[in-house]
Amino acid sequence: MLPALKLASRILDEPQILTYIKGALKKSLTQINDDEAANKAGQPLYTFSNEPLKDWTSEEIWHTLWTLRECITFRFSAHLPYGCMAMCGGGDTGSMIAIGAHSAKITLSNQFFGVFRRKLKASQFSKPWNPGTHDESAVLRSQFAFAVTLVHEVMHALWLTSNPAYVQHYAPTNPSQWVNRLEPFYRDGRMNELGACWETHVFGGNIHMLGYPHGAIMPYGLTTVPFPGTWEFYPSVINRGNPRKWGHGWQTTYPIQMKHIRKMFTNEMWDEVQRYGIKRLRRERKLGYRSYVDSKYPALAAGKAVSGQAPSPTSSVDSKEGEEDHQGVVRREPPTATEGNSFVIVS
Ligand SMILES: [Zn+2]
Repeated sequence: MLPALKLASRILDEPQILTYIKGALKKSLTQINDDEAANKAGQPLYTFSNEPLKDWTSEEIWHTLWTLRECITFRFSAHLPYGCMAMCGGGDTGSMIAIGAHSAKITLSNQFFGVFRRKLKASQFSKPWNPGTHDESAVLRSQFAFAVTLVHEVMHALWLTSNPAYVQHYAPTNPSQWVNRLEPFYRDGRMNELGACWETHVFGGNIHMLGYPHGAIMPYGLTTVPFPGTWEFYPSVINRGNPRKWGHGWQTTYPIQMKHIRKMFTNEMWDEVQRYGIKRLRRERKLGYRSYVDSKYPALAAGKAVSGQAPSPTSSVDSKEGEEDHQGVVRREPPTATEGNSFVIVS
């Protein structure tokens, strides 16, 4: 677990990444002019974008992060919903960052423990496949995913602890009826999810495991799924409409090469980030996997989306010998429906 904790700390120490937090925590955010969404939310909604860090503002952000340790608790549980790796909610006390705000409680899947202690071996959970599951690589994927999960949840915790609970104008001033302020939309996006938007901003998509089982055991590999992309449902967010209306009918995901994951844990990577920017943290887009979302084929049904459905190598590489073109790419015209999805592989 130590490599993951060090990596999470390194991520939260990177000034170029902190511009996202600086933007989200800026006081007086820009209000969104979307009555339908605001009515659904029952409170005004806001948007933010990255804010450059000047000397004194970076100190302010680091101070907030430092103070967060006094109003955040972490715990591990075996009882998270299927496929859910972590959750963040209000704690039992007040926040040390902002008066009137809650402390935060982050619950993580204890399956991570099993993986890090080598009690759960990925190769025991994978189907026979070529080249097969390499257990140490699978553990490294879990370490990386754990670091990303921690920072994802810290984004929620930062919001929760930095913003006083909201007293609706029609509600009596009874603290139990106060509600938390909803998270702001990143760059006026379609869904307000500070952790998921952060992952997409930094890594080019949410970090997902390929195939099954869902959880901390990652026998096949990792991929990036853009957020909100074609998601039609996501828990605890305000959804500002059908993805097709926002021009998202296709979703392309890209596998993350193992050498890229390994590099995350090296000084070399973080030296490059400082020199060339956070684009270095994005995976290469060599060969993508594309799913088509059509109203006839409700690819991302609620239950599936929330459990983090990602393409599995066994179902996505559904090609026959000699089917590929001269570039070695299999191309299919949609819709070739499989379980409500149609798939094409794109370069
Ligand atoms: Zn989240």
